[in-house]
Amino acid sequence: MQLLDGVLVSAHIKEQIKQEVKDWQAGGGKQPHLAAILVGNNPASEAYVGSKVKHCEELGFGSTLLRFEKDITEAFLISEVERLNNDDTIDGILVQLPLPDHISGDSVINAISPGKDVDGFHPISLGKMLLGQPTFLPATPYGIMLMLEYYKINTTGMHCVIIGRSNIVGTPMTILMSRASNPGNATVTMCHSKTKNLKEITLTADIIIAAIGRPKYVTADMVKPGAIIIDVGINRIDDATKKSGSRLVGDVDFDSVAPLCSYITPVPKGVGLMTICGLMKNTLLAAKKAKELIG
Ligand code: NDP
Repeated sequence: MQLLDGVLVSAHIKEQIKQEVKDWQAGGGKQPHLAAILVGNNPASEAYVGSKVKHCEELGFGSTLLRFEKDITEAFLISEVERLNNDDTIDGILVQLPLPDHISGDSVINAISPGKDVDGFHPISLGKMLLGQPTFLPATPYGIMLMLEYYKINTTGMHCVIIGRSNIVGTPMTILMSRASNPGNATVTMCHSKTKNLKEITLTADIIIAAIGRPKYVTADMVKPGAIIIDVGINRIDDATKKSGSRLVGDVDFDSVAPLCSYITPVPKGVGLMTICGLMKNTLLAAKKAKELIG
């Protein structure tokens, strides 16, 4: 079994981005600038946004963090997004999800200018991705593709089983893994909570991509020996041995599955770090090519 090491791969990609930012600015380009919006004080969201802002500093990007109380109105939030759309100093806008229940995530995402949609969630970005046109790819699926590329894993002809059909992970992942390129060229099966006989399906998988949100859900008896395992899940479970009383685990039961498979991503230090790389690559692209991407 080989670990697909998010620390190693993200360090490599971040070095490339840093150099690209330097070269871009040396040639007269402006410093890429990411604006992040955080509504409320969900601890996980705070941590994700904090990490994104920290990465901006590390890579030579500018960043702006806008924090709002959880009781702001949808109209106000959309007006803030529009203000950022019209601000030429801002290249990328990300709205940390989930939003409070009274605010429609779709309406807020739809308000982001497609040229600044560095999370790749806007309908125009997703539509272009579907058609194979240049655009911002959703950050997590993009990060997974970068990971497979780094390890030169040839996925052509493989059976890829994706568990989860969210708009931000599972659904775009099916498109990217089935498109005519490598990584890609896979025969894809998408599973979700209404799938019957999930285990029978996963046992035929050469690659399993688990984006479910259920701790250790994929167990050894569901995995074909030699399969490749990509674990997107981030779940906090109680652990009395930890100072904090909890720890993060993925959607895959790492301890039982790892000995069986050919490659596996750990949680943490796997896909999460790659998601940041996807976001940062998109932000640099936005700074360089936003006009082409809008057209
Ligand atoms: P969602 O809750 O939006 O989607 C979960 C999907 O899993 C749904 O499609 C759901 O099916 C499916 N599902 C739930 N239970 C089962 C089951 N028993 N069998 C089969 N399918 C099931 O989650 P996200 O896609 O947003 O996130 C998934 C996980 O990935 C979470 O743990 C999240 O924290 C993590 N995540 C990690 C990221 C990273 O950077 N590493 C980035 C984004 C998310 P149905 O549609 O039928 O309800």
